[in-house]
Amino acid sequence: MFKIIKNSEKSDGRIGELETNHGKFNTPVFMPPGTRAAVKAMGPEDLEDIGIEILLVNALHLYLQPSESVISGIGGIHKFMAWQKPVLSDSGGFQAWSFGKKEGKKLSVIADEGIKFYSPLDGSSHFITPEKSIEIQYKLGADIIMAFDECSPDTNDREYAEKSMVRTHRWAVRSLKKHQELSKKREDKGKTPPLIFGIIQGGIFKDLREESAKFITSLPFDGFALGGETIGYNIPRTLEILAWIKNYLPKDSPRYTMGLGASLYDIIEVVKRGVDMFDCVAPARLARHGSLYNGKIRLEKGGVAIESEFPDKILKINNSCFRNDPLPIDEECDCSTCRNFSRAYLRHLYASKESLYLKLATIHNLRFVRRLIEALRENA
Ligand SMILES: [Zn+2]
Repeated sequence: MFKIIKNSEKSDGRIGELETNHGKFNTPVFMPPGTRAAVKAMGPEDLEDIGIEILLVNALHLYLQPSESVISGIGGIHKFMAWQKPVLSDSGGFQAWSFGKKEGKKLSVIADEGIKFYSPLDGSSHFITPEKSIEIQYKLGADIIMAFDECSPDTNDREYAEKSMVRTHRWAVRSLKKHQELSKKREDKGKTPPLIFGIIQGGIFKDLREESAKFITSLPFDGFALGGETIGYNIPRTLEILAWIKNYLPKDSPRYTMGLGASLYDIIEVVKRGVDMFDCVAPARLARHGSLYNGKIRLEKGGVAIESEFPDKILKINNSCFRNDPLPIDEECDCSTCRNFSRAYLRHLYASKESLYLKLATIHNLRFVRRLIEALRENA
């Protein structure tokens, strides 16, 4: 299913393509999170124009609302969202754990059988097991599904991190078993089952990460993801963990870092280290809060660089200096926002809280990331 087209001569990066039930996509790839079956303010045609090739949805959020049965009744996640390209569903292990983290909420209870959690919508209690998560993801009809895992927080001591990793390993085996059972049923009906990825945990401990990488990659998953609270959120540590497990990852399988931080350089750094897929809430979130990417994307000998007159390559649209500015957000950007609208107009929309601002700003930031990926592919 996964084909490597080129291995970079400058780094561990590679370009490839992954075939799914809804066509193939090119890697490295950025998957915008459409957690509740929508990328905020974006319609499917906007995402296609930007060049988005695959979306991420979340099994647990959709189980709570509107429910996997409603979605399968309409004809599956693609029909539901009117999106005909690939969709990856996250298993919900991270959410089941994180729902309880908000102040004043009841904490989730993690046991060997599964996770008991309380809905952030109405406080109702739910119990999710690896088998249940896989069933939900099958009902949604995603093209790539994820094994159910326990997210390892950075605050775990070694003893707990190990216990949690062992549990994630058992859950990986159970997820895979359920997948094989459902996949057989689907094949009997003449349909192709989804791909399934395993998730490597082990917290911030080198030996545990190595052990987890060794164990998870010994199972017949179609791809391998790197999970845990620290991944993407703490980029120096993420890169360190990638280096620890590098030699355990099969070269011919896709690799996915789950959740990347706000900096565009984080993307460049993980791609350089051979990551093929990543998701990141930052581009859309920053856009909504008035932070718009700006900079010339330059191909360099060692890779790709971004040159911008603004700190962190971010133009703060609310700044009064843009009040009369006739320029687009970014003169080099080919997105529909930059082709048609001035900074002055966007600043006005932002200041007057017009909902059109959300759409125009999100289009630009997503397209900027997409252009960065295109440059990384070109210069691999
Ligand atoms: Zn633009």
